[in-house]
Order: sequence, then C-alpha cells, then structure tokens
Amino acid sequence: MPAARPKLTVIPDQSRASQYRNLRTVKLLQPACEECQKVPVSKWWEHCPHEPYVESQEVEVQTRVVETREDGRKVVTGTTVEIVLTETPRTTQVPLTLRVNSGRGVEQAFARGCITPESMGYAPMCQYYNCWKPVNAKFRTTFGDYCGDEHARLIAADEDQITLEVFDTNKRKRQLRGIDISAA
Ligand SMILES: [Zn+2]
Ligand SMILES: [Zn+2]
Repeated sequence: MPAARPKLTVIPDQSRASQYRNLRTVKLLQPACEECQKVPVSKWWEHCPHEPYVESQEVEVQTRVVETREDGRKVVTGTTVEIVLTETPRTTQVPLTLRVNSGRGVEQAFARGCITPESMGYAPMCQYYNCWKPVNAKFRTTFGDYCGDEHARLIAADEDQITLEVFDTNKRKRQLRGIDISAA
C-alpha cells in the first residue's frame, strides 16, 4: 500500500491574475525577521528562532457585554477584549523564464533563504503570474504546474513563443485551444 501523503494546507486565495500577463513564476516562502536581520549574518534564517516564514498579526476583538434590565431595556455594561493571533505564510513569486534574470531567479531566491511552500506543509500554488490558487494535479505539465487549463495554455504559448492575438478574442481563443498541454 502506498504511504499516505501528508495533507497540505491551502493558503487563502489572493489571486489578481490577468490573461494578458503570461509570465511563469514560482511561488515560494520568503523569510523575514526584524530581530535577526538587524545584524548581517550569512544565512540568518537558518538560526532564527522566530518562525521567519510566517507573519503573525494581533487583532483586537472587542465584544460588548449587554444586560437586560427588569423593565426589558438592554444596557451595555462593558466590553471584553480578546487578542486573536493570526498567522499567514510570507509568500513571494519569482519569475522562471530565460527572459528574466537568465532564468536564475529561483536559484537566487533559494540562496536568499526562500523555501518551497510544501516544505512548510502548504499546498503548491499555480505558476501563473499573480495567481495563487492551489495546483490542480491534472495540470502538472512539462512547463510548470497550474490551477487549470487556462493558465497552463497561456504559459505554454509563451514557452512556444506564440504571439497571442490581443484584439480578436475569438482568434485568441482558437489559438489557446490549439496549444498542447498534455501532462509531463
Ligand atoms: Zn529571528
Ligand atoms: Zn492559476
């Protein structure tokens, strides 16, 4: 029996992708720590004890205490305050194409301490620029992993150096349908 794969957490969607910006980017987690970055130490993130890949925020939640008096009136007699901690992974996207930085962006990001979302238990994200949706297993291709066929086809067009029609949307749709996105 194959070993059960660990369940990965899906990071909440924050996508703002445009079909006219078809750039392949790899989604990574980027370290940051106010304290440990004060002193320039090489590979500080390896020694940081403050969860550098997670952004913690404190949100104050106030709840009113309401009492009902004998005559039926409702009166606010006070408030309770709770501090709720939220933790969000620090995501970043790095171009993966020979046109940008000779295709070395991802390598350089790892050298800056970036790590894959999977290594922290988060689901991998679509490699389309500004799309942060989780990867759909059906669209793992030779030119990257995507949330669906639209983003896979747009990047395939870019990799194959197909200039997509901008004004004639029917022609553009035909062009996109004709692109081979058979799985890797
Ligand atoms: Zn630290
Ligand atoms: Zn996508």
